[in-house]
Amino acid sequence: MRVELITIGNELTSGEVVDTNAAFMAELLSEAGLEVVFITTTGDEALRIEDSLRRAQERVEVIIVSGGLGPTKDDITASSAAKAMKLDLVLNREVLENLKKRFAEGGMEMPISNEKQAFFPRQAEIIPNPMGTACGFIVRRPGKVFIFLPGVPRELKVLMREKVIPFLEKERKEKVLVRSRTLKVFGFTESAIADLLKDVRPQDFSATLAYLPRYPENHVKIIIRGRVAEEAEDNLRKLESLIREKLQGRVIAVDRETLEEIVGQLLRAERANLAVAESCTGGLVARRLTQIAGSSDYFERSVVVYSNAAKVQMLGIPGDLIDRVGAVSAEVAEKMAEGVRRVSNATLGLAITGIAGPAGGSEEKPVGTVFIALASPKGTVSRRYPFMGDRDQIQTISAYTAIDWVRRYFLNLIPAFKNL
Ligand code: ATP
Ligand code: MG
Repeated sequence: MRVELITIGNELTSGEVVDTNAAFMAELLSEAGLEVVFITTTGDEALRIEDSLRRAQERVEVIIVSGGLGPTKDDITASSAAKAMKLDLVLNREVLENLKKRFAEGGMEMPISNEKQAFFPRQAEIIPNPMGTACGFIVRRPGKVFIFLPGVPRELKVLMREKVIPFLEKERKEKVLVRSRTLKVFGFTESAIADLLKDVRPQDFSATLAYLPRYPENHVKIIIRGRVAEEAEDNLRKLESLIREKLQGRVIAVDRETLEEIVGQLLRAERANLAVAESCTGGLVARRLTQIAGSSDYFERSVVVYSNAAKVQMLGIPGDLIDRVGAVSAEVAEKMAEGVRRVSNATLGLAITGIAGPAGGSEEKPVGTVFIALASPKGTVSRRYPFMGDRDQIQTISAYTAIDWVRRYFLNLIPAFKNL
């Protein structure tokens, strides 16, 4: 079954609102193995809406429409749909009673304008909307299904997940089942990943691979189609482990997991805690780690030692060392990591110092030069990175790389620690 999505609203065609509904629906549908072949956006204008609906039914079997089901004058999807399909617009008494009840429960009388939300094309099947006043509805035409949903993203998401996907799965004649997994890769560029995976043949696993850049991560999404659940799951497991092996420990998380969650789990499992000294990231590492609920179990502190004076006063870094080698150096990064570990008594001390730009670079240390250091019970290591991008990107990738060091430390993936 091929699908066309039609999103309706002047706020979309004027660019005031980004069409997140289309992206959300397309992702959910393709995960369910349904192919979205067109996405159309149109303003709140009756003739254009009718025209979009007619065109869509000429080229696909399933048409999903979002928006324009509200009580206001500009919400005209239901009446346009009736016209396009040459059906009467009729009052649904049950929906009207429910609407009135809803308002009564809130201690209000229903405004006249809401009455409009109880009119649907004849024969429409109603999709109740427990979160709002705009019900969705389904209209069948020979060989075609039209599904209409409210535009409010929160409502659309729930109805898509709970009603539309199960409905389409039942509707579908050929029973294809789909399994997918997103592998989140950090530390390789998209082209490096493609090179490393060049000998992997997804077709041997009835799979396709999609590459999705999500700065600073790169995602590899595995999509498996099959008829037997166990077979599809087995294929997914095998292909995933093959890809993980090729990517040498750079798969940091899967699906909805985040790097910060994984690092938190590792610290907790090891009963370890972490202290951080940040210079060029200005607290970003702390911000990211503390986004995870319960991070106080393992996140001890982060100090933002931005000036040289702060590095000296708070972490006891010798001032003459900074004078000699500069604040952006391996030596100072290591002293920062050791200093913050010492003053906080944490298991691990992590430090970042670098040049985020756009000014402050030199020939020897251009913008994007960042040193990361980790002090641990096994000793201290540091590394110089040549990051690229604008200030925001350099700060993001520096924080990310530093956090990933903690993951790599616990998984024994930092070469210098392996040989100790
Ligand atoms: P209601 O009027 O009852 O809220 P509706 O079905 O008429 O529901 P709209 O009026 O079209 O929905 O949109 C409601 C809200 O949802 C608006 O804030 C709008 O900006 C937002 N919205 C509508 N369509 C989209 C979309 N495709 N992507 C993201 N946001 C959207
Ligand atoms: Mg609208």
